[in-house]
Amino acid sequence: MELYSTLSRSVEPFVTLNPDRVSLFVCGPTVYDYSHLGHARTYVAFDVLVKYLRWTGKEVFYLQNITDVDDKIINRAKEEGVSQNALSRKFENEYLRDMQSLGINAVSYYARATTHIPEIIDQVERLIARGVAYVSETGVYFNVDTFERNGELSGQDGTKRVSRVSDTSKNNPLDFVLWKIGEYGEYTWDSPWGRGRPGWHIEDTAISEKYFGQQYDIHGGGLDLIFPHHEAEIAQMESLEGKHPMVKYWLHTGFLTVKGEKMSKSLGNFITIRDALRTWNKDVLRYFILLSHYRSPLQATDEGIANAAKALEHIRAVAKKDTGVNREGRKAFTDAMESDLNTPMALAAIQALATSGDIGALKEFGEILGINFLRETSAPLSVLQDIRAELRARKQFDVADLIRERMVAAGINITDAPL
Ligand code: AMP
Repeated sequence: MELYSTLSRSVEPFVTLNPDRVSLFVCGPTVYDYSHLGHARTYVAFDVLVKYLRWTGKEVFYLQNITDVDDKIINRAKEEGVSQNALSRKFENEYLRDMQSLGINAVSYYARATTHIPEIIDQVERLIARGVAYVSETGVYFNVDTFERNGELSGQDGTKRVSRVSDTSKNNPLDFVLWKIGEYGEYTWDSPWGRGRPGWHIEDTAISEKYFGQQYDIHGGGLDLIFPHHEAEIAQMESLEGKHPMVKYWLHTGFLTVKGEKMSKSLGNFITIRDALRTWNKDVLRYFILLSHYRSPLQATDEGIANAAKALEHIRAVAKKDTGVNREGRKAFTDAMESDLNTPMALAAIQALATSGDIGALKEFGEILGINFLRETSAPLSVLQDIRAELRARKQFDVADLIRERMVAAGINITDAPL
């Protein structure tokens, strides 16, 4: 397989540290609100990558952190008058529920920041002992001047970047915080530097070091995390014992956009996963997401999703008679997946497999992509159609139309006989 790594800015043969095992860490959500389609885009991509790697026979340990201590959580909990713990547990559960509804189920282990405080403190202590971090009045900071490879992942000149946080208690404005001293409600812990809480970047390296050690295979997340988050992670981990590279394959997903802008909570232009699932089913949403390569931007429009629904329906309509194995079609699918997870090409191969009637391949590859390419059993369908007929006979057209709308959205085309 070949994968594009942000670190080398090139497509490289994928060679794991251990021949049969893949260790993958993907940045999980900050749990203070419902997840949106932008999150779906990123997590569907990694779900498919892992399912494909497992299908090739590799054992994959897919680790994801849950950021459950953060300014956004503290502020939202205050606004809503609830505890930080209650808020983050609620949205962690909602996140897991949304992932399940989208068929995203390849994660081996979810690790919360708040249950890894001893590991975080231990890592900060070792960074201080190495002379790469210092203690000031407001916290413990990483000294970026000690890290030569700073800026390598983002390809920026480390001296020119501006830190998001200006703080006079830092030696250099670019230094980033490892431990924040202060009282932060119930999410405050004792540490050798005073009571406080971890900074954002250290939770990931403390968690990934615990489960994988200082070097592992793949680190993933959205494009927005390259700087400062992933740069900081590299600086922290590689400064511990100088092991380089911490990760060779840095995979970053492109943004899901709305009218050219990143879908995000702060811009208020988001559609939650659960709202989207009221109109479209998970097969359609996954098909829509996978029609674009994971690194490209993906424009979210109703029309785009409706077209994906139609294309999926077409596959289901033509995939009827099982005519056996289509070797060429199968090879086209695996070649596409091997080529930096080229899912648009893989879906083109799926269309060819449907046309030729390789039902076995559609089932098998459908599991990798998390999409059912075969028609659902007709029993529930005919029940729904009967109910619609009854509603129309009673002139309850609004409900009948709603059912029809949902069925079409789910890729099921129906034609009504005239009344
Ligand atoms: P957050 O909860 O904002 O920390 O995001 C969790 C993950 O979802 C990160 O990897 C983000 O990069 C990713 N993400 C957030 N918004 C989008 C978007 N609009 N498109 C693609 N990925 C996104």
